[in-house]
Formats: sequence, structure tokens, C-alpha cells
Amino acid sequence: MNQFKKNTTNIEEEIKSIESFPDEHYIKIVREVGFECDLCGKCCTSEFNDHVFLLDDDAAGIIGKTGRDFIRPAPYFDVCDNLGRFYVMGYALNTKPNGDCIFYTGGRCEHYEIRPLICRIFPYMLHRESDEEGNIEFRQIGGLDMHGSYHNESSVEEYKEILKNVKKYESGFLRQKLEFIRAIEKYFKENNLKNSQQMFDRMMRLYQKGKKIEVYVFFRGRFEKEEISKQINNPG
Ligand code: SF4
Repeated sequence: MNQFKKNTTNIEEEIKSIESFPDEHYIKIVREVGFECDLCGKCCTSEFNDHVFLLDDDAAGIIGKTGRDFIRPAPYFDVCDNLGRFYVMGYALNTKPNGDCIFYTGGRCEHYEIRPLICRIFPYMLHRESDEEGNIEFRQIGGLDMHGSYHNESSVEEYKEILKNVKKYESGFLRQKLEFIRAIEKYFKENNLKNSQQMFDRMMRLYQKGKKIEVYVFFRGRFEKEEISKQINNPG
């Protein structure tokens, strides 16, 4: 599915609104919810997530510690060029055949010390989503009442730390997206390429049938070429 929709101005505005989101307001919400992880592990399984997106720093840390076996191009490629090559804004952690995170073993995270920032903040979030009536509003907590325990007390310092990391992740994600869009525009112009929805659909059909495809992953300001097939990307 092509998610390459937002223009750069919208993204810049969204970053500003995340960064200026009032601390007291967010801390009030988090305090009212009082979420505490009870180690159920649901957020590490396909029940909650079909992939764990990696900011560049996350991917660099994981590559540095474990190599490249545990990462893959993030699913839901953003763009396909007229030559049939896909582009995506970053890496994700690989998954096991049952869809669980590749690091989730024996009910725990095998590489907890290098878990990505999204895992450190979840279920806290600060990004815009539409409500039932289509109004765009901030969503602050993910999977409410579906995991963990509630109405627990924490210190103000802990709430501030949560907020700092939430803002870091959410604005970091959008910055990576912004840089990706700008890099794509430049790369396509320099190489006389075009964004092709027709080619996107055609190559995606072939990919679903098991054909190997090329995916250019945006990482550290440049594109890294990966070749994947459905069996490798999502075994089983
Ligand atoms: S990296 Fe660790 S904490 Fe994050 S989803 Fe995977 S197993 Fe869970």
C-alpha cells in the first residue's frame, strides 16, 4: 500500500505541534491512565504489531551489536519508480514465522538493552489520527485496556522522562520521513525516474507470488539496496 501521501509542509507542522505539545497536559493524561507493564509480552507479538519500525539510531545500534540478520526493509513501501524498484523510509526489526518480533524469545526480549526507542515508549505515543468523525486529533496511549495494569502511581521525574522520549520518537520518525521525501525527490530528479503507481501495483503482485524485488532503504541520509522475496521477508 502506498503511504507516500503527506507533503513536507504538513510534516513540518506536525513536528512543531508535537514539540510544542504542553508537558502538563500530557503528564496529566499519562498520570490518569497510570499504565504499568505487567510483562504480558503482547506488544512484542503479531497480536499488537506487525512490525517494529527502527529510527536510524535504532537500526545503527542493532546492526552494530547483532549484524544485519535481524533487520529488514520496513513493510508498506512508500514509492515505486518506473523501473519497478521500491523505496522505503527505513528499516524494521525482522519477524519470526509466526509474526512475533525476532527478539522475542521465551516470553522476554532477548536484546532488551538495545531495544528500539518505540519499544521504550510504548504504549505512550503522540501522533495525529482521525477519530470516528474524521477529525484529526492526537492519540496519546496505544492499546488502552488491552494489556498491562492501570491506575498506578509514578514520580513526576518518570512522567517527564516518558514525555521526553515520546517527543523524541514521534518527531524523530517524522524527521526521518521528511528527509526521505526530500532525498527521493532529489534522487528521482538526478536519475530521471518517476513515481509509478502502476508499477507499484504490478511489482507488488509479483512480490506476493514470491518474486524477488529490489527495495531501496533510506538509512543515514542515503539509499541502501536490499533484495527481498516474500518468503524471506515474512517466512511461513
Ligand atoms: S525489540 Fe524487544 S521489546 Fe521490542 S518488540 Fe522486540 S522483543 Fe519486544
